[in-house]
Amino acid sequence: VTKAVVVGGGVIGACCALHLREAGVANVALLESAEALGAQTTSGGAGFVGYGEGALETVLTDYATAFYSQIQEEAGADLGVRQCGQLFPAISEAGEGALRRLCQRHSEFYEAHWLGPVETEEAAQILAPGKVRGALWQPRAQVVPTVRMIQELARRLPAIGVEVRLGCAATGVQRSADRVVGVLTSDGAIPADVVVNAAGAWAHSLAARDGVSVGAVPLAESRFVTEPSPQPVSDRLPMMLLFERDLLYLRPELGGLLVGAVERSVPESSRPSLESPPDVGDLPAEAAEAHERLARSCADLIPRLGELRPKTRAGGLPTFTPDGRHVLGEAPELAGYYVVAGCNESGVTHAPGLARVLAELVTTGTTKDDISAYRVGRHEGLSDRELSEGATATYLARHSIWR
Ligand SMILES: Cc1cc2nc3c(=O)[nH]c(=O)nc-3n(C[C@H](O)[C@H](O)[C@H](O)COP(=O)(O)OP(=O)(O)OC[C@H]3O[C@@H](n4cnc5c(N)ncnc54)[C@H](O)[C@@H]3O)c2cc1C
Repeated sequence: VTKAVVVGGGVIGACCALHLREAGVANVALLESAEALGAQTTSGGAGFVGYGEGALETVLTDYATAFYSQIQEEAGADLGVRQCGQLFPAISEAGEGALRRLCQRHSEFYEAHWLGPVETEEAAQILAPGKVRGALWQPRAQVVPTVRMIQELARRLPAIGVEVRLGCAATGVQRSADRVVGVLTSDGAIPADVVVNAAGAWAHSLAARDGVSVGAVPLAESRFVTEPSPQPVSDRLPMMLLFERDLLYLRPELGGLLVGAVERSVPESSRPSLESPPDVGDLPAEAAEAHERLARSCADLIPRLGELRPKTRAGGLPTFTPDGRHVLGEAPELAGYYVVAGCNESGVTHAPGLARVLAELVTTGTTKDDISAYRVGRHEGLSDRELSEGATATYLARHSIWR
């Protein structure tokens, strides 16, 4: 490979550029249309690096926890990366049954334990006493504050020889027959034999201009951070996710709490156009307001949610795929055109691992991991409407632990 150009400077593109360079690609450029890396969905990420079902996803998450710890260590600065674990507390009898079953299924893939009520309250001392029946516990889950992490990656990329071009938007590729030979940008053409589309919410529309199908649909998500608590929330508090309270999730952030949730339905206002998704700064505030109300209604379980006032909001456009799997690999119709997209709201968790696999593919033509489920082009033939319905179903499926 003579030159690789990565399009999109979110956490996924930044990790791809880093891994390509470290895998020995001499010329790597990272193009970002905004004036800073991570200015779009990455800046809204809640920073939970946790585990789920899936053998490949476990490999990716294990890789991420090691990667982020190493970045923090090498930075010689506290980026807020903490292995403080993640709890899924059970509130009702039915919830306990469902979460115990989930724990059993998940323990096939990663280290998951069931904690009794006393141990749960000991682990998460902000819980009101006597309210939870126990919890699924992921001891190896990690907090990664995405803004501090992307700032560190932005510092590191030029230092390892990646050319970072801010304010530079890709508009398509140059091709010779069925092979990529360059990228067209707002600053002119850049010759390249490898192009990586890591454009997040814009990956679908960017790929479509070059005849490549990427079945990744952006849906808006948001979260907020409270003011710091007079008695600061410990930065060792485990992350928590309340399945029985609309998947409200929270973790410590700067002495207060970062809080979000998963909607029960996806309103029109959370479905931007596939052709031209908006800047995340222009997303509507309704979802954040709903999360703030939901948080207050959870004060019976976590009293601080009733006490701490929201201070800042952030949102983004994670992209969902109809089958819930990422999109990773070379486009079948265009040699040299690679895609890393369809984050399914776990882009912070999986970016380093996806980038590692991408770099292997680009430099060796193969990878030891079975990524057949992530095949580019597998949703070709679905209409935009079918794609959007499939993506919404994936989004909402996170509520269904009752199986
Ligand atoms: C509220 C919320 C909570 C979340 N919580 C978590 C979590 O706890 N854990 C987790 O793992 N994930 C979480 N996520 C998801 C995570 O933030 C995303 O998966 C991740 O940030 C996606 O990164 P990205 O690089 O694909 O997208 P982005 O950060 O959007 O990056 C894509 C970049 O491409 C640029 N771009 C687009 N088109 C072009 C072009 N033509 N030329 C040049 N540049 C272009 C854009 O400007 C953008 O900066 C959350 C997301 C939100 C919104």
